[in-house]
Amino acid sequence: MTDTEKPVNFIQQVINADLEAGHVTKVITRFPPEPNGYLHIGHAKSICVNFGLAEDNGGVCNLRFDDTNPDKEDDEYVNAIIEDVRWLGFHWHGDICYASNYFDQLYIWAQYLINEEKAYVCELDAEQMREYRGTLTEVGQNSPYRDRPPSESLALLEQMRVGSVDEGAMTLRAKIDMASPNINMRDPVMYRIKNMAHQRTGDAWNIYPSYDFAHGQEDAIEGVTHSVCTLEFAANRPLYEWFVANLPLPSQPRQYEFGRLNLNYTVTSKRKLKQLVDENHVEGWNDPRMPTISGLRRRGVTASSIREFCDSLAVAKTDGVVDMAQFEHFIRDDLNNNARRAMCVLRPLLVTLANYDAGKSEAFVVAGHPNRDDLGERTLPFGRQIYIDRNDFSEDTTLSRKKFKRLVIGDYVRLRSAYIIRADEIIRNDAGDIIEVVGAVVPDTVGRDAPEGIKARGVVHWVSASDSADCTVQLYDRLFSVAAPDAGESSFLEHINPQSLTVISGCKVEAGLANAVTEDHYQFEREGYFIRDSVSQGLVFNCTIGLRDNWK
Ligand code: ATP
Ligand code: MG
Repeated sequence: MTDTEKPVNFIQQVINADLEAGHVTKVITRFPPEPNGYLHIGHAKSICVNFGLAEDNGGVCNLRFDDTNPDKEDDEYVNAIIEDVRWLGFHWHGDICYASNYFDQLYIWAQYLINEEKAYVCELDAEQMREYRGTLTEVGQNSPYRDRPPSESLALLEQMRVGSVDEGAMTLRAKIDMASPNINMRDPVMYRIKNMAHQRTGDAWNIYPSYDFAHGQEDAIEGVTHSVCTLEFAANRPLYEWFVANLPLPSQPRQYEFGRLNLNYTVTSKRKLKQLVDENHVEGWNDPRMPTISGLRRRGVTASSIREFCDSLAVAKTDGVVDMAQFEHFIRDDLNNNARRAMCVLRPLLVTLANYDAGKSEAFVVAGHPNRDDLGERTLPFGRQIYIDRNDFSEDTTLSRKKFKRLVIGDYVRLRSAYIIRADEIIRNDAGDIIEVVGAVVPDTVGRDAPEGIKARGVVHWVSASDSADCTVQLYDRLFSVAAPDAGESSFLEHINPQSLTVISGCKVEAGLANAVTEDHYQFEREGYFIRDSVSQGLVFNCTIGLRDNWK
């Protein structure tokens, strides 16, 4: 899709109007993650929307960490988020921003509101505050501390800041309207006490700003013109606007909300993903079954397919659940076009070609990709012994050619890019298991049709027995066995699919992949798309996705 065909979403319409009216000359957006977990596919949507709007309008997008809650935040998350945004292919403007860079300024603005008699230090505890707040159907009551003189609030706020007030004993609240139908406007908390060090500001603060008091002001400092977030913040917008209207801010940002991306068969909540990690249901945040950016990357999903998928989704004013199959379509499409072909035998069965000299070997040069010359060629060594997949051989010679297009005794198959072979005899071990098939090549059939009277049942993949590498393959199924794991009464953990990981060792892969790098994607012919695992020791390939959607 070219730029001119891009559907104009409602935020772009607002931007168009703002540019036309001259309200805005340069579009500035931001992506504001809280560093309390790793980014997931939902964040990717937000990243694509924010960076995309900036790019489409010749503007810029900031990466800003919303690090206002040291309780749950960590540098590990900061670093992971930076890596993920970069890997997705986006470039933020200038230096990375941190809400914590603005703590001094926010404090000055808090003092300003106190002096304007628009904020006060309140000594109701959490329980009392709940009582005073009222409900959706009942108005709230004013705090008894609401009208204390500014000088008193200023002094108390300073005591809160330096750590001489106990946690929970006081808060700073905006003085708005306890009767507002919007509960967010009933004197919301601006600062709460946390006697806790912050990963960036150390011991400097014992109070930390609330999301609502911080976010719009951070936007204003950075000159953000269009502050785009998800729908759950719609009810916070009046408060966002109240701070913008009542503070002497350097700019006047505006907030717009769009629907969250949810995918079926997974969860997109950092809290739940963290629980999966903390309780060892998965290997870590980058477990290939996780819908995190780092998990998807380790799984072999490409950054471009994530971007294409996100761009294909509407930027709408309603939340929706997107079918995983839709995401998989983009993953498969990209890999089909870009992944090199290779052969890997997952369940090897030795085949000895009795009419092929033990001392002889050949090397077949084949394309790296059927229609991408730029992906070069590869060499397939061939000799007297090869492996095919156990599933590509059957002892049942009564199976019709139509039903079983693979090898049976007395019949022929084509080895992909090599000879037609025939199977003659089965060799078993003492337990009666098939350990080898003895057969023969049909001479002169490499790159050529079979001679008269011989017809291959089908084509199978193979590797040379002497010239291949041992590897392990990890196959993944969906992490949850139901479409909406977090709907319903029971915990989402009860819907974890116990069969989500299958590890197959003793696989045999084309020799050329013995030193595969973790950035290269492969199509293992007839099996699926794979990438070398970045974490495991040894030669381990993760299955990104099957060739076809055969999931039921
Ligand atoms: P979670 O609910 O997973 O904890 P969050 O909204 O608390 O996510 P933030 O770090 O605050 O996570 O999110 C950064 C930005 O990403 C926010 O603007 C938020 O609206 C957006 N975002 C988060 N989840 C989604 C989603 N599923 N779809 C689209 N945007 C999202
Ligand atoms: Mg959040």
